[in-house]
Amino acid sequence: MEQPIAVTRQSFDDWMIPVYAPADFILVRGEGSQVWDQQGKSYIDFAGGIAVNALGHAHPQVLAALVEQAGKLWHLGNGYTNEPVLRLAKQLIDATFADKVFFCNSGAEANEAALKLARKYALDSGNREKNQIVAFNNAFHGRTLFTVSAGGQPKYSQDFAPLPGGITHTPFNDLAAAAQVINDRTCAVIVEPIQGEGGVVPAQPQFLQGLRELCDRHGALLIFDEVQTGVGRTGSLYAYMNYGVVPDVLTTAKALGGGFPIGAMITTDKLAKTLGVGTHGTTYGGNPLAAAVAGVVFSLINTPEVLDGVKQRLEWFIAGLTQINLQYPIFSEIRGAGLLIGCALNPEYAGRAKQITQLANEEGVIALIAGPDVVRFTPSLIIPEQDVKEGLARFARAVARICS
Ligand SMILES: *Cc1c(COP(=O)(O)O)cnc(C)c1O
Repeated sequence: MEQPIAVTRQSFDDWMIPVYAPADFILVRGEGSQVWDQQGKSYIDFAGGIAVNALGHAHPQVLAALVEQAGKLWHLGNGYTNEPVLRLAKQLIDATFADKVFFCNSGAEANEAALKLARKYALDSGNREKNQIVAFNNAFHGRTLFTVSAGGQPKYSQDFAPLPGGITHTPFNDLAAAAQVINDRTCAVIVEPIQGEGGVVPAQPQFLQGLRELCDRHGALLIFDEVQTGVGRTGSLYAYMNYGVVPDVLTTAKALGGGFPIGAMITTDKLAKTLGVGTHGTTYGGNPLAAAVAGVVFSLINTPEVLDGVKQRLEWFIAGLTQINLQYPIFSEIRGAGLLIGCALNPEYAGRAKQITQLANEEGVIALIAGPDVVRFTPSLIIPEQDVKEGLARFARAVARICS
């Protein structure tokens, strides 16, 4: 065997198209909620790969499922179905409102499928005019041209015009404003129950309830983008269950594969008929390797122990973060649901979330931002108490450096 190519952080700048600005160290190994870099330095992982590694790193049962399936069958293409994908579909159906599932590889693709379904469903119902999509300011739905256009952050879409049309944006959590733009030409309303990338902002229950009523009144589909909130993140399997508002279409990805790329759009029998043979697809969607991993991830998370444990862990975080904030008043608000936690910075620290996460890295903890003014934590749903304590102690040292 040849020696592997030597790589450093500089290699990223030399060889990678610069759409990202990764940290200045390279992680090489993870176990549970700890990761280690090339130099052997340890970090407590409060990011979980952006709400993806919901069972931490190298979970023994997930690893076993991956290895077992890897020895059997990796990929077939959609001319042939497979056992793991059918089992995963049944798990999703049994656990949710849905009757049918479409698998893909990412959150953006799941949303792309949902928006296409909505357009075609309205067209098939005979109304050529019914093609308008209502979405929300600050929303994030992915990076394909359609989903970036549905997203409510123009900085992600404006340079790629001409954009797909027929999308109207309106303020999040403002039901009166939504009522002004939802009408009989609306084919779908797409919303995150908790805006993740947009700053960890939960929808008010009356807002989602009101959207449900507006959609029913105007024959529009209500699409919940649960790519970030799904699969246990908020302490219920899907956030809609907590809100008691049932969508027509739901998208899920991120934690679904626990780190293996997979996404899904789930919906009712009635709507599923819209996407007949040949109308939509993707080469890798529902491949047996991804589905086998996701099946184990899903069944491990969808238990009372793990879901109740999320609420317990949130309490540990709130207690620790509140303590830090008493000593160094840096946050104006600590918000979110379950283990999707956003800490909004006081005005005097505005714009410094990224700097705080960089200092946190130096102190040995991985955290995220959600926009320039919010520090975000999306750790493993089974992170041990010891790791929460140690990570928060390290985070406190980073905060102390910012505040001194
Ligand atoms: C991350 C995210 C997406 C995009 O998912 P990808 O897998 O990156 O395509 C879409 N919607 C929400 C709410 C997300 O958090």
